[in-house]
Amino acid sequence: MAAKSRKSSAPPSAAGRLDRMLGAHLAVGPGLVKAADRAAAVGAMGLQIFTGNPTGWARRAELPKELPEFRARMKEHGFGPLAVHAAYLANLAGPRPEVREKSIAMLQHELRVAPAYGASFINVHIGSHLGTGIEAGVKRVAEAVDQILDGVPATASDALLVLENSAGGGNGIGESIDELIAIHEAMGKRRVDMSRVGYCLDSAHLWGAGVEMSDLDELNRVIEEFDRKIGLEKLVMIHYNDSKAAHGSKLDRHQHIGGGEVGARGLAALISHPKLAHAAYYLETPGMEEGWDKLNVERTIQLAQGNLKLKPLPAEAPGLPKPVKKAAKAPKPAAKKSVKRR
Ligand SMILES: [Zn+2]
Ligand SMILES: [Zn+2]
Repeated sequence: MAAKSRKSSAPPSAAGRLDRMLGAHLAVGPGLVKAADRAAAVGAMGLQIFTGNPTGWARRAELPKELPEFRARMKEHGFGPLAVHAAYLANLAGPRPEVREKSIAMLQHELRVAPAYGASFINVHIGSHLGTGIEAGVKRVAEAVDQILDGVPATASDALLVLENSAGGGNGIGESIDELIAIHEAMGKRRVDMSRVGYCLDSAHLWGAGVEMSDLDELNRVIEEFDRKIGLEKLVMIHYNDSKAAHGSKLDRHQHIGGGEVGARGLAALISHPKLAHAAYYLETPGMEEGWDKLNVERTIQLAQGNLKLKPLPAEAPGLPKPVKKAAKAPKPAAKKSVKRR
């Protein structure tokens, strides 16, 4: 393998232009190393991935052979923490024993393989109480997290289990900071090892849940409440997305930065909030593989720099940027439909 410097040929990235880490969720179908190079090529500073089918339970029995090279490449690019997004089927809050067991086993698997990937975070949607009530759901989440961590000793995985807020639809738990606090306190009561747990706030979910981020007083209130009861150091990830859904609709429909209902002002407040600079931000915007990734990184940097006048979104996908490695034409993306993220 030629050890050519890849950094020198990379385009200007978010590194040096943002005071915080901005990564992107990219598909790893074409390969993990390719995804890392792609993230660098679009100017991102880190990566979020799936280790398997996001809408299936099965996880590969054998680890990908390119993992050592992938870890090396992540380092070479100077990337921030790698996040693994767990499958969407997981539900830690629901009453169905079968789903619950599968969720626990899947998350234990993700935690166990995290060191081989070099992953710092295993991110999961908390789930739905499925009509059984918030209190019962909160209790189940705390029990499930306890069980997950019990099954994987801290010596076997240094990755954090990262619980993500919900937009609130379909009886999703963790819609408000209050619900996250309830889960946090329930875990504390069970003496869960909280050094292994973190939180993720998704801006599209906050929006769906009714938080208006362009109102600085409101955003500050959310952040202060989180800090007072949980501690901002536990807020390790932010999913940085605009939303196609209406404010307070409880719907979760990700959109390109500044192209949706949250808008430039709210997203600018979030990317430049001085109390959140420690968190790792990840874009989960649509159509990454069609070149929207690069555009969304650029638009995020623009907002962080205080320039809120974003250009209208192009009518068509911007297309693939040139790969960092070769000057040859980029391969056509796989004919897979992009996965809808919830
Ligand atoms: Zn998210
Ligand atoms: Zn979402």
